[in-house]
Amino acid sequence: MVSLTDRASWALALFLTSALTIGCRKATCDVEQCDIREATCQAVAAHAAACFRGDSSVSTPVTVIPRSTTGEMSTPPTNAQVEAYVLNAKALSLYLLAKADVTLQQTSALQYQQVGAYYSSSTKAITIIDDGYPLDGYWAVAMLVHENVHALQDRDGTLGKTSPKTFDEGIAVSALIEGEAAFIEDRATLAMFGTREDSFAWNPIFDHWQSAQRSRAFASEVPLALEYSHVSYAFGEPIVRDAYLQGGEARERSTVQTPPLTTRRLLQRSLGDPKADGDVRAALEATAVPDLGAPYSFYSSDALGAWALEQFLGRLDQVDLGRTAAAALAGDTYVVHIDDTRTNVVGTWHLRFDDAATAAAVLAAVSGRLPWRVWQTGADVVLVGASNGTFLERLPNQPPLGPLPAASPAAAATTTASAGPRDARTVVCAPDQAAVTNR
Ligand SMILES: [Zn+2]
Repeated sequence: MVSLTDRASWALALFLTSALTIGCRKATCDVEQCDIREATCQAVAAHAAACFRGDSSVSTPVTVIPRSTTGEMSTPPTNAQVEAYVLNAKALSLYLLAKADVTLQQTSALQYQQVGAYYSSSTKAITIIDDGYPLDGYWAVAMLVHENVHALQDRDGTLGKTSPKTFDEGIAVSALIEGEAAFIEDRATLAMFGTREDSFAWNPIFDHWQSAQRSRAFASEVPLALEYSHVSYAFGEPIVRDAYLQGGEARERSTVQTPPLTTRRLLQRSLGDPKADGDVRAALEATAVPDLGAPYSFYSSDALGAWALEQFLGRLDQVDLGRTAAAALAGDTYVVHIDDTRTNVVGTWHLRFDDAATAAAVLAAVSGRLPWRVWQTGADVVLVGASNGTFLERLPNQPPLGPLPAASPAAAATTTASAGPRDARTVVCAPDQAAVTNR
């Protein structure tokens, strides 16, 4: 969330920028400050979104609801969801990526606090959450433009075009969807202030924004559950803007429809070859599962990716190594076992880097820091953590590794399982997630 103080300082900075550029304004799409509760204003926002996207507009119903009613957005979790959340949070807490005693309901509440608006492809409608900010301000109009971009993405099949198979893929795919909406939101905001896009210091602001989001993630007790807020916008928008600068609206749209499938590429601001992104992970799945023996059995698997690795190493006070290791992460698998009481968990993270030197640096950083089994083989590092220390002491130094069960493909849904606002049919959007509002 951005405080009122943040908003005031931003407005002053943008006013000063626009004062310097008035008189040399380039032709842009029409958009103006108006009251988003009025149909004429909603039409302005819809047309602006389409214009900036090089698209034809679509009429989308808009509803404004008070924050106090957002609890109705969620359905109560099932017992199975609650258990899955507890077990996976316990496993991720071994890697400092979740807190074992934070409940699913608490995590969901944190996620809902981040939501400023959402577009539902099932109802084809936009919902704006009223936090008490003026609904006739530039910020509200920009947010409505953002949501209208999601409506356009829905119409042309962008939403749901790529089905993420892992947590890592899920972040990357979401980032470009949100990145396009945030980019157009920013362009609309600049237009409302009469500021030329080429006079705006995009890259320094992206750098500052990403740094701030990293800090927010490091400060969170549940960083993976909140990745949507921390990663999607700040790391997706620069890639979408790069595509726009290279090939206009057509390149922008095709890039969003063929996103990178790893957070490594997202953090590097490099698209690469989407088809190749899953190759290393597929190879790793042949040696993903340690043979723990009774009373443990396989529970779930996933790929956590570079963002999670960066967060993990940063939490061991290895921030710089986290950045370099994330940039060299070729692929990973993450497997959870549970015991027959469904209480104790073992989390195994198999990391493959581009080179053995990075693997050695990661091994050195984690060795002795936590009571895990850790070892290196070439460019691979394997980490095995257990909630039951006694069991861990009995575990061989390097338990044999086998393939994922054939009937248990990587299941991203279970890693950060929650009843939060993220689902396949609804694009949720945090209220302050655009570069212009984060300068
Ligand atoms: Zn959005």
